[in-house]
Amino acid sequence: MFCYQCEQTVKGEACKVVGVCGKIHEVSALQDLLIYALQGLALVAVAGREVGVVDDEINVFTMEGVFATLTNVDFDPQRFVTLIKRAVALRNALKPQVQAAGGNTGLAQEACNFTPAVELTELVKQGEAVALDSDPHENADIRSLKHILLFGIKGVAAYADHAKILGQEDDQVYAFIQESLTNTLRQDLDLNDWVGLVLKCGEINLRAMELLDAGNTGVYGHPAPTEVPLGARQGKAILVSGHDLKDLEILLKQTEGQGINIYTHGEMLPAHGYPELKKYPHLYGHYGTAWQNQGKEFAEFPGSILMTTNCIQKPASSYQDNIFTTGLVGWPQVTHVDDKGCSSILDRVKSVVGLGFADQGKDFSPVIKKAQAMSGFASDSDQGKVMVGFARNTVLGVADKIIEAVKNKDLRHFFLVGGCDGAKPGRNYYTEFVEKVPKDCVVLTMACGKFRFFDKNLGDIGGIPRLLDVGQCNDAYSAIQIAVALANAFDCGVNDLPLSMIISWYEQKAVAILLSLFHLGIKNIRLGPTLPAFITPNVLKVLVDNFAIKPITTPDDDLRAILG
Ligand code: SF4
Repeated sequence: MFCYQCEQTVKGEACKVVGVCGKIHEVSALQDLLIYALQGLALVAVAGREVGVVDDEINVFTMEGVFATLTNVDFDPQRFVTLIKRAVALRNALKPQVQAAGGNTGLAQEACNFTPAVELTELVKQGEAVALDSDPHENADIRSLKHILLFGIKGVAAYADHAKILGQEDDQVYAFIQESLTNTLRQDLDLNDWVGLVLKCGEINLRAMELLDAGNTGVYGHPAPTEVPLGARQGKAILVSGHDLKDLEILLKQTEGQGINIYTHGEMLPAHGYPELKKYPHLYGHYGTAWQNQGKEFAEFPGSILMTTNCIQKPASSYQDNIFTTGLVGWPQVTHVDDKGCSSILDRVKSVVGLGFADQGKDFSPVIKKAQAMSGFASDSDQGKVMVGFARNTVLGVADKIIEAVKNKDLRHFFLVGGCDGAKPGRNYYTEFVEKVPKDCVVLTMACGKFRFFDKNLGDIGGIPRLLDVGQCNDAYSAIQIAVALANAFDCGVNDLPLSMIISWYEQKAVAILLSLFHLGIKNIRLGPTLPAFITPNVLKVLVDNFAIKPITTPDDDLRAILG
């Protein structure tokens, strides 16, 4: 195997035997083969688009297939086998339609004509043949940019999938994912072409995040400042992790009046700020910290656990029977609640015609039954609280106050300290950085990197909290809108604001966000804890020359460099 798509890759080079994330060689090969099958499907889909043949099912399937290969989403080989075969079946079904419309289906590329093997071992061999390092003669810088694009569209696919679930779609996002898949097969593009495609990925990702923001706020309202308990309430409990607000809503509806308290975990914390979610009194509090601590935290949780999206880790035997996956998440032998989990055909018919079950589509009964069978929390416990809900609507609602504080020099500087968390010791930088931020500065944060400091009481500046939680990594659009609105208010560019971005990355959604920031021309981003293994020195030079991106150093040195 050869996988270097995330920050924790072995020695900062690549996972070659087994993934640090727990991904085994077999799954890695099947993921590579799925991307190859999707490239073949995309070739036909792009040819179809040229003659007006656009297939909704193929658009969505391609997006979901790409998302399934994102770090910490799906570790189940059998599900990848199903996806690979489905990609080829869709490709073969599309070809005659494209041909009938006068399109070019005589595509010579092997990806367009490949047949998946029957046996798993043979499929794995097919995957090995198309691994990310399978062409030893490929120019290293071209390969670097090609893989930035591939990993970037994995992030785009994740955001677009979340948005679609909440009813927001844009065909240009699907088209870009398909075009990018076909472009990653091309040998005729030069470095400038690839840089252009990578920046275009940032532009399209901004659109995907905009769709997701519209989905989240359109369905659940604008997040409002909300206090979230970190302790426990006596009684049965279910823990919901991941990013999918719809899954949380479905579970809240299905557990109403059952005496079960729902707790958020990891990236689900910001859900407490949404009016249409916090109206449920049994959405009680937040349990645990970031994804990499789940092995210890899940083992101690006295209820069932639902993983809605990334990031799942190998479940310990102590809680393997208590954990459930849904959506694109998968782990072998872990019970999966699929999207058509209605209990009977009649329910499904009712769902279609709008009689009951209509807004649910999933049946979380196994998760609920497990919670009822478990002990739950024996007593109440008070472990403090945190505030969430400082997304764009809230922050810009006090824009006058913020502008006045900046003009009066009460508020010197904004720091956006956000991104993914991870297991490396170097990530203590972010805790220390926030602790050392001077008292006349405000910290905006988002994503799971905040668990390094989310429970710190930093006080306020004239009523403006010094620690503002904008939301999930999925809410990066909100943070960007805050920056753009402040730049407009001060009649300057975002780069001229007293704002510095201190970003931590881990997986491919962070890659897509970085590309969006580059697309917006944002400079001087400090990135850590280490730079991506898939960026060559020459490509890094392009990024440094154009965007002045820099690695983090020490909190003291970086603060001194920023504030003088
Ligand atoms: S996703 Fe990350 S940890 Fe997992 S195999 Fe790939 S590089 Fe390694």
